[in-house]
Amino acid sequence: MENESNRQSSIVNHKLKQLVVLGAGESGIGTAILGKQKGYNVFVSDKGTIAKKYKKVLLNNDISFEEGKHTEAKILEAAIVMKSPGIPDTVSIVTALKQKGISVISEIEFASKYTNGVVVGITGSNGKTTTTMLLHHILKKENFNVSMGGNIGKSFAQQVAEVTSNIHVLELSSFQLDGIETFAPHIAIITNITPDHLDRYANKFENYISSKFRITENQTEKDFLIYDYDDEVITSWLKKNKVKATLVPFSIVEELEQGVYLKNKQILINYKTTHKVMGISTLALKGKHNTKNAMAAAMAASLLKVRKETIRESLEDFEGAEHRLESVLKINGVQYINDSKATNVNATFYALDSMQSPTVWIVGGVDKGNDYLDLMPLVREKVKAIICLGVDNQKIVQTFYNVVDLVVETVGAEEAVKVAYKIAEKGDTVLLSPACASFDLFENYEDRGNKFKKAVREL
Ligand code: ADP
Repeated sequence: MENESNRQSSIVNHKLKQLVVLGAGESGIGTAILGKQKGYNVFVSDKGTIAKKYKKVLLNNDISFEEGKHTEAKILEAAIVMKSPGIPDTVSIVTALKQKGISVISEIEFASKYTNGVVVGITGSNGKTTTTMLLHHILKKENFNVSMGGNIGKSFAQQVAEVTSNIHVLELSSFQLDGIETFAPHIAIITNITPDHLDRYANKFENYISSKFRITENQTEKDFLIYDYDDEVITSWLKKNKVKATLVPFSIVEELEQGVYLKNKQILINYKTTHKVMGISTLALKGKHNTKNAMAAAMAASLLKVRKETIRESLEDFEGAEHRLESVLKINGVQYINDSKATNVNATFYALDSMQSPTVWIVGGVDKGNDYLDLMPLVREKVKAIICLGVDNQKIVQTFYNVVDLVVETVGAEEAVKVAYKIAEKGDTVLLSPACASFDLFENYEDRGNKFKKAVREL
């Protein structure tokens, strides 16, 4: 946060300086709009094709742009460059900028300079969207003037340009955090850290871990870091590295001296005083992972002084995020669940863990180097049949054919659902939780989830 006079001076300092925006997606367009509003001379450059809706915004706002190329001479004139999160650091234009000593930052770094609102930043390998939406829902119910952005919905930059919010709840990917210099959320949440996106981190898990922890690097003693105490990757990093923020852990295993924990299936917050929030049986979102997400959101809300009645009500009536353990329909006593967003093994682990009845599990797609052995105990315990939904299912078949009575290969959502319908009996669950990316058969995970739901509705 900064005061009005700093804010004014930074605007004046940047007047008519050249801001180059690399990538014209959600982050890029938001930054361009905000940059223009704050007096920059903005140039947007995208090596691919710019989507029609974004091109329209650029034209309407009289912002100059190019597509299909990066004109190096023009880009290297920049005083400051915002690089969209999808562009790796290794592309030649970024290397050239860095060699010239030009500052290359992310959208959150840029936008955070222009808001006086309190920022809550939420990162982690899984659970970001759910926790962000939960917290936003709680704060809305308490009638706070709050906006939600980052990886979810509208970009943070566009919101800063268009609305005045007292609180910004931001979902942050590691790519957004890679491009920060001074960004310091008042409350940071790290939901968990498991290997993901290692292709962008020279295949080094340590690099990815460091990137996630950048969320706290500029925090001060007045700020808070909420994190999963049961996650050894997080706790061992914290043992080795100093953090200025006040640490507020959550745990579903241990009672904590400071933080959020479970006792007799009740969520308790122990920060300055101890108070009970609610029983876990009334949480709207089921499964241990969602209990953790709820605890993180409740803790953040509590630090923001939301009444515990509001926290409880919100966690009870929250209507889940689409494609995340989403109940679709019950047909002939069989429950169909869409967890298409489970694109890694850890997410699927929690999905299987939360299954309460024999499960027909639909899995597969583009494998990002999965180790399925982690799932073995849960598969033995809960899965009665596996339906592979991918182009190459070799690894899944080989891992599980000995463990599960029936393994069937399919190449489309409709076929997978029809096979599941034949196999499942009253009382069973059919779970789509692929543990893989979707690009072999689908446009993206939403497309996969939507096709699954359509096929279920047409049964
Ligand atoms: P993200 O935004 O980090 O990808 P989402 O909330 O969209 O997270 O959830 C992605 C997937 O991970 C879903 O399948 C969901 O059920 C699962 N998931 C959600 N929260 C957690 C958690 N705390 N730990 C592990 N898996 C989770």
